[in-house]
Amino acid sequence: WALETETPHMSVQELKDFALQFNAVYFHPNSYHCAKLAVGAALQLVDHVLMGKVRNGMALVRPPGHHSMRDAACGFCTFNNVAIAAQYAKQKYGLKRVLIVDWDIHHGQGVQYCFEDDPSVLYFSWHRYEHSIFWPHLPESDYDAVGKDKGVGFNINVPWNKVGMTNSDFLSVFCHVLLPVAYEFCPELVLVSAGYDSGIGDPEGEMCATPDIFAHLTHLLMNLAGGKVCAVLEGGYNLTSLSQSVCQTVQTLLGDPNPRPENLRSPCQSALESIHCVRWAHRRYWSCLGHAADLSSFQISTKPSGSPKEAGESTWKDKVAVVWPEPVKRVAPPVRTAALLSDEAVCPEGCKRLATSDKLDPRVAGKLRCGAVTSAEERIYPHSHEIQANVFSPRRSGRTSSKARVTAKLSLPSLVSLPSQRKWRRMR
Ligand SMILES: [Zn+2]
Repeated sequence: WALETETPHMSVQELKDFALQFNAVYFHPNSYHCAKLAVGAALQLVDHVLMGKVRNGMALVRPPGHHSMRDAACGFCTFNNVAIAAQYAKQKYGLKRVLIVDWDIHHGQGVQYCFEDDPSVLYFSWHRYEHSIFWPHLPESDYDAVGKDKGVGFNINVPWNKVGMTNSDFLSVFCHVLLPVAYEFCPELVLVSAGYDSGIGDPEGEMCATPDIFAHLTHLLMNLAGGKVCAVLEGGYNLTSLSQSVCQTVQTLLGDPNPRPENLRSPCQSALESIHCVRWAHRRYWSCLGHAADLSSFQISTKPSGSPKEAGESTWKDKVAVVWPEPVKRVAPPVRTAALLSDEAVCPEGCKRLATSDKLDPRVAGKLRCGAVTSAEERIYPHSHEIQANVFSPRRSGRTSSKARVTAKLSLPSLVSLPSQRKWRRMR
């Protein structure tokens, strides 16, 4: 492919001419190198998760991948990072069921084309569609593209036919479409085409979902596949919204408690219509959707007769700049877990024995009992550095149970610090 051998040496004009053969792709002499790094990072993440080195992770890569085809770049994408990662997981690790969740605001048609006849990869995508007015304008992006041949039922498209979808709409699709099917599918690995142009403020998506919703979407996926979730960055063009949303995703992957969702309402009429259509289209393939109502029972009311302008729909360009509150700071204690073991007990791998019971500073023990010691106690215990740094940070939420647990364990004769859940995952 000329991309490999020629683009690193092309002039700007030659690169422009070269890019013309593809749809919405731009090249730089370093594009090929960056694209290799992107797909390599995704594969490395899959390796680490499937070998048990980490529980989950996120590959922060560019260029994105979900539009690219087997033999052509497309839509800012060079190599299809997530599709290659799925195929890699199947071939190298023998996985039989891989779930790809594409929450980018564009349809990852490249992923769909790769696996639409493959029942071992369940592809879910929601995307701005507006009855095919929105790029890439494909009929196969609609809800009735359910897969082909043996892969029928394993391709789920949820078209957003209006802009301005909110957290409530996103959560509703997860709860009423994706999660029931995903549980039934029972994946061994979850790959996320994690694009954040579906977030508020993005000029491409024109949606209204706030960054904290991505914490919840991530958390819901972590219940699948034994928590083996690999998120791979796709789109996202509002740098504030993008960075806040990525932060929410990574914090959740690391095990921090989710922010409380606010202002949840019922989904809008257009989202309800999409959900209804998808459930109907898939009801013959998934027993969890078997009771979905017939399509004729729902009034298709949102399809515009003309262009969005003619239909009276507002567009992003008509609006003033969107603002949203900074996400609430999420409490992330450095260490979550301390355990007391007998002196004879072997210290688990990755943990550090800090002291035996008779060496434990009585002030520390007292603090442990009341559940109030945190890493901020360093000032108070200048000679117990390990303890300050490693032991006592009971969860601030669920405080009562944390206190009870720590107090109970204090009745045992010695103390071992387990690493935080976060460190624990890394070490395993
Ligand atoms: Zn996108």
